[in-house]
This record gives sequence, C-alpha cells and structure tokens, in this order.
Amino acid sequence: MTYTKRTCHECGKRDIQPNMNEQEISYRSGSSKKSVSSSTVMGALIGDKKSTRAIVDSVLNNDGRTYTRTKRVWICNSCAGIEDELPQPQKVTSATKAAVAATEPEKKSGPGFFKTVFKWFVYLVLIVAAWKMLLSLLGFETSS
Ligand SMILES: [Zn+2]
Repeated sequence: MTYTKRTCHECGKRDIQPNMNEQEISYRSGSSKKSVSSSTVMGALIGDKKSTRAIVDSVLNNDGRTYTRTKRVWICNSCAGIEDELPQPQKVTSATKAAVAATEPEKKSGPGFFKTVFKWFVYLVLIVAAWKMLLSLLGFETSS
C-alpha cells in the first residue's frame, strides 16, 4: 500500500500522509504594501516616490489593503508539537502536582504541630530567663 507523500509547511520534511497533520493557516495575500529592501531605501534617498511611499507605509504599519486568506497545509509531527517517543510535558506536570498534593496534608499535620509547640516552649523559657535576669539587675532576690 502506498501513501501520498506530503511536505511539511514548517521545515520542509517529506513524509507519508498518515504521519502528517493537516492544519489551516491564515496568510496575507493581495497586499499592496511593499517590503522595504536596501534598494527601496536607496530609491527613497534619490527621491523615488514609490520607494518613499513604501517606507512610509512600512513605518506607519499601513496594512489596510492587506487581505487575509486561509489555506490548508501539512505539518509534520515534530513541528505540530507531537512527540511519540517522549511523554507529554503537561502530563508530567499534572502527575507531579498530584503527587505533591497527595503528600502535602501529611507534612502539615504532625511534625508541623509539634514544631510550633516546641517553638513556643523555647520562647517561654527565653521570656522567663529574661524576666529573671531583669529582676536580678533591679536588685530583687530571685533565689530563696
Ligand atoms: Zn516540520
């Protein structure tokens, strides 16, 4: 069985039709806007009206007379972002997020709670020590 070979619009790679993706693209046609080349600039410098007009249109981005049309082209898998060998980056990201979400609640309850209690216990000891030091500095007898 033979397949029709298609040429990739993006990279020019040729492959059989089942391996290619048909896409509709829009392109500009019928534009009266001339692209500015070095010869156009030279023409403007010597006073050529057409060249000057082309530069003015280009600077002002005057594309009012540009028509957009669509056409169907063939795109190869790599240009279409389809990779059969490698896993999709989005799938990896969502799987990683799910794994993180599953382990997150365990982290919060448990060690986090005791850590907070321990932190406040340390604060309390420091406050008591500071209070005792303040009393001794003021001349009060703290030990009886
Ligand atoms: Zn391609």
